[in-house]
Amino acid sequence: MIIAIDGPAAAGKGTLARQIAGHFGYAYLDTGSLYRAVAHAVMRDGKAPSDSGAALAAAEQLDPGAIDQKAIRTAEIGQAASIVAAMQPVRDAILAFQRHFAENPPERAPGAVLDGRDIGTVVCPDADVKLFVTASPEVRAHRRWLELKGSGSSVPEAQILDEVRERDKRDQERATSPLIPAADAHLLDTSDLSIEASFEAALAIIESVQA
Ligand code: C5P
Repeated sequence: MIIAIDGPAAAGKGTLARQIAGHFGYAYLDTGSLYRAVAHAVMRDGKAPSDSGAALAAAEQLDPGAIDQKAIRTAEIGQAASIVAAMQPVRDAILAFQRHFAENPPERAPGAVLDGRDIGTVVCPDADVKLFVTASPEVRAHRRWLELKGSGSSVPEAQILDEVRERDKRDQERATSPLIPAADAHLLDTSDLSIEASFEAALAIIESVQA
């Protein structure tokens, strides 16, 4: 069983994917963390994320088991990730790992949930269930702002909204694997839904597909 969850930045995909994986006992892969880790490695070496040679080398050397989850969760790495993610060779270098995870989930889990931008369109086009999770840019920026505020950061909400829009634009307009819903994806707009209501709505879609 493969569940593909795509959508723009800060739409709540990660929370939802984790809940779904926990509910069914499936393995979970946050594919955004792979692009973030590539960007982080490039910048740690003092290179610019636009340096395609450095980005490809980092992607080829990536060890998904050794990602520093804390270091990659900054807004700066999020923007840099969307720059390296627009490079086809970088995407090619981490495609096999993602497909292998989906088809052979760790610990023999009976299924896998992957979230990202191109899971339903490129990584797992034959996924059993495809969800495209979205919310308005304003709602996504507000959620991110609350999250940052909770962890003691005081970035203005307007700045977060600008960053969300910038990242959306880069992810949607890139030539390679742009962020678009797969033709057979179920759309889930969480703008007016709580975390619990989003989970219930996602479960209803999954169960309707399985029935
Ligand atoms: O999901 P997250 O915000 O961590 O992703 C960081 C960046 O990685 C995205 O803005 C996007 O450019 C890229 N990404 C991608 N394809 C995926 C997952 C993430 O291009 N499957």
